[in-house]
Amino acid sequence: MSLLKFTSKGIYCSQADVYLDPWKGVNKALITHGHSDHARWGSKHYITNEINVPIIKHRLGSISVSGKKYGESFKVNGVKFSFHPAGHVPGSSQIRVEYRGEVWVFTGDYKTQKDGISSPFEPIKCNTFITECTFGLPVFQWEEPKYIHAKINDWWAKNQSGKITSLLMGYSLGKIQRLLKHIDPSIGKIYTHNATEQMTKVLRQFIDFPETHLITRNTTKREVEGNLILAPPAVMGSAWVKKFGHLSTGYASGWMAFRGARRRRAIDHAFVLSDHADWKGLISAIKYTGCENVITTHGYTDIFAQYLCEQGWNARTEKTQYDTETLEKAIAE
Ligand SMILES: [Zn+2]
Repeated sequence: MSLLKFTSKGIYCSQADVYLDPWKGVNKALITHGHSDHARWGSKHYITNEINVPIIKHRLGSISVSGKKYGESFKVNGVKFSFHPAGHVPGSSQIRVEYRGEVWVFTGDYKTQKDGISSPFEPIKCNTFITECTFGLPVFQWEEPKYIHAKINDWWAKNQSGKITSLLMGYSLGKIQRLLKHIDPSIGKIYTHNATEQMTKVLRQFIDFPETHLITRNTTKREVEGNLILAPPAVMGSAWVKKFGHLSTGYASGWMAFRGARRRRAIDHAFVLSDHADWKGLISAIKYTGCENVITTHGYTDIFAQYLCEQGWNARTEKTQYDTETLEKAIAE
C-alpha cells in the first residue's frame, strides 16, 4: 500500500482523505507554504503552520484555515500528521505523515542554508522522502549568503554616493523579506512596491525589519534618488519604474547563476541568492532522512532521480503542478 499517491488533484492520503498542496479544490488541504503553486484557491478547509496562516489568508482571501505549531502532531482517521520547518520562506513546512509505523515526508520547497527569517530546515527520519529538486544539478552550488548580502550593500552604497537610485527585485514572499532583513538601513531610505509592502506588512508581526516607505502616485523621482527600491521582478520595464528615470537594477535569484538569464533580462547586477537547496543541500537532506525511497517532484527531476538510483536509492519522478520557479519564467517575467 502506498501511503501517499499522486493523483489528478494532488498528493493524496486516501486513509485520511486529505491532500498535500493540491492543485485543484479538495475538502481538506494540508499546505506547505504560501507560494502560489503550493497554496491554491478552491479548497474547503486548509491546515498549515501557524505562521503561514496570515500569509495564505493574504493571498487567498477569506478561507477556512487552521494553524499548527511546528512539531505539533494531529491525527486524521488514524494517520498522524505534523509540520516541520523547511527553511524555504517564513512559515514553510515539510509535512510528515505516519501510519502503522511507516513514515513519509513531503518537503514542499526547502533550503538547507539559514536565511535569518525562516525557521531553519529540520531533517526528519523517514522511509519515503518526496523532494523538490529545483536546482538538482551539480553546477548549482550556493555561496555563503553573508557574502551576497555584503555585495548588495556595497552596490547600493556605491550607487547612493553617485546619486543613482537602486532597484532590487525578488519574489514578493520570502526573497524580498530576506533581502530587507540584511540590508544596511544606514545607507539611505528603503522604498517598496505595493505587492512587496503588503506581504512584508503581514510578516512584520513575526519578524523585525528595517523601516520601509511605500511608493505611491505622489512619490517623486527626486525623493527616491540614491535610495533603494524593493519590488517584484514583474516591474522591469514598466511605466511604474520608468517614472524614476535611470536606475541601477539588481535581481536576486538562484537562476542568476545562469549568465543567459542575466543577459536576457538586461539586469545590471545579478545576485545569486536562492530559497531552494543547491546540489549539496539536496544530497545532504536526503542522506540525513535515512530513507530508502525518494520521489522527485519538480525541478531537474529525471536527472536527479537517475543520479540517486546510481547511488543506491530507490528513486523515481512523479508529475506534479509545482512549477512556479523555472529558468524560463525567471527570464521571461
Ligand atoms: Zn516556494
